[in-house]
Amino acid sequence: MKILTRDYMPCWYELSWQGKAKPSAIILRVHKDFIAKQEIIPETAPIIEYFKKEFELKTFCGDFKGNFGFESAFKKQDDCNNFSVFCIELPLVKKQETKICSLCSGSGKDFTGDNCFSCGGSGKENVIDWHDAFAVSVSLTVFFQISYYIEIETSAKTPQLLTVETITERGMHGGSLHGIYSVPLVKWLSAIRGNVAEMVTAMTEAYDYMFGLDSLGGYDFRASVDYDNGWLNVTCPGNACGLNPSSNSTMRDGRGYEFSCHNTDSPMQQLTLLAGLAALHDKALKEIGIDPKTLVH
Ligand SMILES: [Zn+2]
Repeated sequence: MKILTRDYMPCWYELSWQGKAKPSAIILRVHKDFIAKQEIIPETAPIIEYFKKEFELKTFCGDFKGNFGFESAFKKQDDCNNFSVFCIELPLVKKQETKICSLCSGSGKDFTGDNCFSCGGSGKENVIDWHDAFAVSVSLTVFFQISYYIEIETSAKTPQLLTVETITERGMHGGSLHGIYSVPLVKWLSAIRGNVAEMVTAMTEAYDYMFGLDSLGGYDFRASVDYDNGWLNVTCPGNACGLNPSSNSTMRDGRGYEFSCHNTDSPMQQLTLLAGLAALHDKALKEIGIDPKTLVH
C-alpha cells in the first residue's frame, strides 16, 4: 500500500480558495475515480444520526451526485474534466440583526468615539450563531474521514498534495485537524521558504467573512516556512492556535511529513486554517507548474 509521506500518489481531491470577490468559500474538487469507488453514505448511518442530533442538523446527503453533506454544505458545481466540483461557502458566525445595538443605542460609537465594542460600529445588534459553522465543519469531517487513506489509484495526472482529517465537537479542541503534506508538496515547500503571503491573505479573508476582524485586538495571522528545516508553521487567532509539523515528524529528503494543530477550539478556527491550506494548495499547484484555472486533468 502506498503512503503519502513516502510515495507519489495521483490526486483524489484538491482544495482551492475562493476569496473576497465572491462569497468566501473553499472549493473542493473530487476525482471521479475516487467517487466511483465510494458507497453512498446512508442518512441512517449511526455516525450521521449522532452528528444530526449533536448539532441539531436537519438533512444529510451522502451521495456525490448532488449537494453533499449536512444542510447541503457542499454545493455541487459544474464538473471540471475528471473532477466533481463542490463549493463550500463559509458560514456567517457573527450575524447582524435589524435591532438597534443596546450598548451604543445605534450610534456605532463608544464614549471615546471609537467603534462600539458590541456591534463593531454598525449600530445594529450582532448575534453569534454556530449552527451553519457546525454544519460545514461536520460535513468536512465526514468527507475527510472517507478520503484520508485510499486503496485505489486515480488516473489524475497531478499529485495528491495534502490530506486532512478533522474532528467536530463542542468545546475545547473541538475543531482539531491534522494531516499529511505529500512528497511533491514538501519538495516545493523546501524550495520556497519564508512567509506564505497567500495563506495569510486567505485566513484573514476567511476570518473576516465569518466573524469580522474588529474583535481581534493584537492577534494576527502568520504562515511561514522555516529557513532552517523547511517546515511550515501556521498561526491564526486564538490561544496559540495553529498548525505545526507533528512531534513525531522528521524531515528527510524525498519525504512528506505529518502536521497537527494546537488549540483549535472552534469550527471557525478550523475553517480559517483550512482556508489557509486551500490557498497553499492553489499556490503549490501553480508554482509546481500546474495552474488550477487552466488545468486539464
Ligand atoms: Zn453598538
